[in-house]
Amino acid sequence: MLDYNASVLLIYTGGTIGMIEDAETGALKSYDFNHLKEYVPELNRLKFNIDNIQFKEPIDSSDMNPEKWKKLVWIIEDNYNQYDGFVILHGTDTMAYSASALSFMLENINKPVILTGSQLPIGKIRTDGKENLITALEIAVDKDPYGCAFVTEVCVFFQNLLMRGNRTTKINAANFRAFHSFNFPTLAEAGAYIRYQHELMHRPLHNSTPKFHSTLDPNVAIVKLFPGISPQILQAMIAIPRLKAIVLETYGAGNAPSEKWFLDIIAQAVNSGIVIVNVTQCASGSVDMNRYQSGMALKDIGVISGYDITTEAAVAKLMFLFGYGLDRKEVKMYMKIPLVGETTIE
Ligand code: ASP
Repeated sequence: MLDYNASVLLIYTGGTIGMIEDAETGALKSYDFNHLKEYVPELNRLKFNIDNIQFKEPIDSSDMNPEKWKKLVWIIEDNYNQYDGFVILHGTDTMAYSASALSFMLENINKPVILTGSQLPIGKIRTDGKENLITALEIAVDKDPYGCAFVTEVCVFFQNLLMRGNRTTKINAANFRAFHSFNFPTLAEAGAYIRYQHELMHRPLHNSTPKFHSTLDPNVAIVKLFPGISPQILQAMIAIPRLKAIVLETYGAGNAPSEKWFLDIIAQAVNSGIVIVNVTQCASGSVDMNRYQSGMALKDIGVISGYDITTEAAVAKLMFLFGYGLDRKEVKMYMKIPLVGETTIE
């Protein structure tokens, strides 16, 4: 049910969606978002209020970082009570990382925070941006007859699909279907109607208020295994000063080389206090360190399972947990507990 007195805050961070084509040269350029309605006149026909706010310097999302995630949290915190929902326009390249980070930083929200963007600029005739933007705005104000928001979590909306933000991965650099949630079903599908999977939605804890977290610890690294990875590479990674955690992208169900040098370096890292989380390089499926000898060896050393978490969400969760001030033991414990639906632990 659309609430016609509703209000959405549209936050523009940058990315392709905020670009138009220069009529003379054909080059893409950013434009002042205050003039959005000139490019998307359809917005005038939406019967609810849309306010917008933009980053002073719109960025390509390759420049997104924890400082800018904090900025987004502050914007949402400052405006939380005035709006029914939030739509963040974001470049697609790092959208899955931002959605993951925000899902942890915006704890216990009872309103939608929807990230969207586009593959073609909004000022291009065949743009996918208009559809993504308009439907994301509609979802941001959609409520049940009692006035409760249908969506109470951080999501990505792209090409008809509403997905849990911390389950998404960018899968295509050009196709309009740019995101996928491999290990969790989509939360809604927009066709002639928007069909929500209400039972899948993450809900805030009863009788508790939202908490806005803005401290992250960026001392996290990703190590992707490949046949031929050398001791020098691995050694250099674990020697990084102040490194607190490594997301280890392993093969298949969580497997890694069984050579002694490899296991010795991993053991050395664990013993020096670095938390190592095992995630799979496969797009879909889960780590199971009990399945093969090579996975079991990692488990014996003290590497922990990331189960079916995405690399994006694992990085964000580690930054969040260490930023929260937890010690290594507590971080290991919380990595095994889904906080906002980011993992399924069988
Ligand atoms: N490079 C752009 C960005 O992520 C691509 C996009 O917006 O889709 O900001």
